[in-house]
Amino acid sequence: MDKVLIANRGEIALRILRACKELGIKTVAVHSTADRNLKHVLLADESICIGGASATESYLNIPRIIAAAEVTNAIAIHPGYGFLAENAEFADAVEKSGFIFIGPKADTINLMGDKVSAINAMKKAGVPCVPGSDGPLTADEDRNKSIAKRIGYPIIVKAAGGGGGRGMRVVRSEAELIKSIETTKAEAGAAFGNDVVYMEKFLENPRHVEIQVLADGQGNAIHLGERDCSMQRRHQKVVEEAPAPGISEQMRNKIGDRCRKACIEIGYRGAGTFEFLYENGEFYFIEMNTRIQVEHPVSEMITGVDLVKEQLRIAAGQPLSIDQSQIQIRGHAIECRINAEDPNNFIPSPGKISMFHSPGGLGVRWDSHIYAGYTVPPYYDSMIGKLITYGESRDEAIARMRHALDELVVDGIKTNVPLQQRIMADENFYAGGTNIHYLEKKLGMS
Ligand code: ADP
Repeated sequence: MDKVLIANRGEIALRILRACKELGIKTVAVHSTADRNLKHVLLADESICIGGASATESYLNIPRIIAAAEVTNAIAIHPGYGFLAENAEFADAVEKSGFIFIGPKADTINLMGDKVSAINAMKKAGVPCVPGSDGPLTADEDRNKSIAKRIGYPIIVKAAGGGGGRGMRVVRSEAELIKSIETTKAEAGAAFGNDVVYMEKFLENPRHVEIQVLADGQGNAIHLGERDCSMQRRHQKVVEEAPAPGISEQMRNKIGDRCRKACIEIGYRGAGTFEFLYENGEFYFIEMNTRIQVEHPVSEMITGVDLVKEQLRIAAGQPLSIDQSQIQIRGHAIECRINAEDPNNFIPSPGKISMFHSPGGLGVRWDSHIYAGYTVPPYYDSMIGKLITYGESRDEAIARMRHALDELVVDGIKTNVPLQQRIMADENFYAGGTNIHYLEKKLGMS
């Protein structure tokens, strides 16, 4: 696998480029007309403009990306996260065109993309799920009422094809049930082209804890411990950390082992994440992400494993280079997402960066594509970088994050650094283990 096309932009495209360089793999950057000056485009061996600024014309344009791979003789395509990363049609088109898709098989993406089939597969593999309807709801009102009664209110009606925190509705009593099912079904049909809905117990105050896995599709799989991503606003993660406060080694190994075995059972290939809600000491599977995630660096920092390099090795057909007994969790890592947005009202703040200084020092990692003079375009996600700190203890990681945030200078645009500074100074965050509603409550949103 001597040439990889990077079908993404921003910090993850740069992250992939760096991993390729370390492995001696040549890189092809594809970019939109708005992204000619992206850092990885300037650093790649070759670059091709694949279309207009809007993502549908470029980063979501399957034929253009495949054509770019053809003209540059790339061997494999890395989708990054977002855009086409979890699009089974893309994975299929890549492989049918004779390229390697750096990720799982299209069938696996399909299996996990439908929440009902994902939950069924996980249950079968012994992964704990939220008590629920065990499959789609039918038009039988009495049956739906009795399922809800068995689960116990409150329940949540969810669309099998939902994503991005959309397509779900909480129901607190039987009086609202039938109407809520109908509304969710209609909305799901319109939004996702799939009106299958199911029901599960609504957990009131869970944390978001997820397990990172790597599998080679050749019968080997490992887990790399958990991450806590409970600090969220509108279902968007803001701060992530590993390990999760309060999770014992025994709990980690138990849930991690279930995920590892599930990977083997479903023939999983590549990096992946099992997302769980965690409440009262129990894990409840909600979904699997079949790609590298934004927050992967915190797992890298505490395990020493380069997840993107492992993705590349797996795609090249190599068996996993490490086994479970070699995974040692050491220290603590925190990631703050840095967004180009107003820290008070969260309105995106694109524009030219007039001055930039990155933080540094022992245990400080800055994964970002920005530089002084770079213009943040208005067309894409507002994340401009990830600040990651590592410490022997959680306290040390937090102390380093506090001074790293103080050192970071991004002038010319607004960023959420003041919000991250508030979170790092928050006594409940410092204590650890806040739930998924904490940040919105702190911000006075709920
Ligand atoms: P999506 O694919 O849209 O991200 P998820 O199934 O991952 O959907 O759920 C998104 C979010 O919705 C979760 O992170 C959690 O905040 C909330 N949620 C989903 N299911 C439940 C549940 N059973 N109980 C409580 N909250 C839930």
